[in-house]
Amino acid sequence: MIQRSYTYRLYPTKAQAAVLTEMLGAFCDLYNAALQQRIEAYRRQHKTLRYLDQASELKAVRAVDERLAHFSYSAGQQVLRRLDKAFAAFFRRLKTKAKAGFPRFQAKSRFNSAAFRVGDGLTIRKSKRLRVICVPGEIKVKWHRDLPASAKVGAAVLSCSAGTWFVCFQIALPDQEDQPRDGTAVGIDVGLSSLIATSDGETVATPRWTKRAAKKQRRLQRALSRCKRGSRRRLKAKQRLARHSAHTANQRRDFLHKLSRSLVERYALIALEDLDVDRLARSRLAQAVQNAAWGQLRRSLAYKAASAGTRMEVVDPRATSQTCPACGAGVAKTLSDRLHTCSCGCVMDRDVAAATIILQRAQGMGPGHGLRSSSQRTAA
Ligand SMILES: [Zn+2]
Repeated sequence: MIQRSYTYRLYPTKAQAAVLTEMLGAFCDLYNAALQQRIEAYRRQHKTLRYLDQASELKAVRAVDERLAHFSYSAGQQVLRRLDKAFAAFFRRLKTKAKAGFPRFQAKSRFNSAAFRVGDGLTIRKSKRLRVICVPGEIKVKWHRDLPASAKVGAAVLSCSAGTWFVCFQIALPDQEDQPRDGTAVGIDVGLSSLIATSDGETVATPRWTKRAAKKQRRLQRALSRCKRGSRRRLKAKQRLARHSAHTANQRRDFLHKLSRSLVERYALIALEDLDVDRLARSRLAQAVQNAAWGQLRRSLAYKAASAGTRMEVVDPRATSQTCPACGAGVAKTLSDRLHTCSCGCVMDRDVAAATIILQRAQGMGPGHGLRSSSQRTAA
């Protein structure tokens, strides 16, 4: 089975949104209480509580907590599972000696999602609207695409981001026996001045709005920091910043989905560098946004390729930009050298040259392979 998630926008009425917010508040309190209980149990009796210990008490907790009792029982269980996962991750990090980060108490403003089992507390009605336990009426959904007919819908997550509500269905699709396609292969390099460059000579510029968006974000952040803590103006400024960040994230996601879709449709083999995206993202600030986009592009390439029968190859990233694709000689370049110029006569865009090297490595071919004819090269 392949796991996929399908997200849809919700249009709750004001009354419905108020109840949904109330529900997240109740779940947030439950989460914090459960965390408190774990801390106390350890402090007093050196006992590590598990999910089952806490879940067995949920019924009793709901008996005394009227507010919590309103809402879905199984969604309450999911809150406890979420805490359990946070602890599991914490213990895992302890073992690998990574920075441990003990699970934290959550602020209501950050606790913005709740998980359901579909059919238990949350159902899709015949009217194609959502019914959520305790929420009055049915919630309108924008079905911008159909759920796949063969899908088994398991879980659903209700979430609120910058004042907008979403439902995300986790579905399982039967495995498709996709034969690897025949067709052309391509190497892709993370560009220096562009977002990516391909071995076919195509360069995709980093969309200009990323710069503009970063500028606006700084302006909104400054405005926020000028507001007095706890003031109404501060709250408004915070909402403006959150809406702007969500908008930028949407633009980026949309752009990257379209780009990865177009690459997967055109090529049967895609070769990439094995870059440590997390480490890169921490390197240079100017580059950070672009690197984040690169990581996202890679992930969406990977899953789109899997269901389209396109192969992905990841190659050693060392010296891809310092090697001549025509003769294999080392050609040193600084960051400011835009052009690859080799003594063998090969002249091309540095990113395109690197993409060609990546393609050669993926196919185990030597220098000269995958080069476009010189007429094509001059045309580019
Ligand atoms: Zn050369």
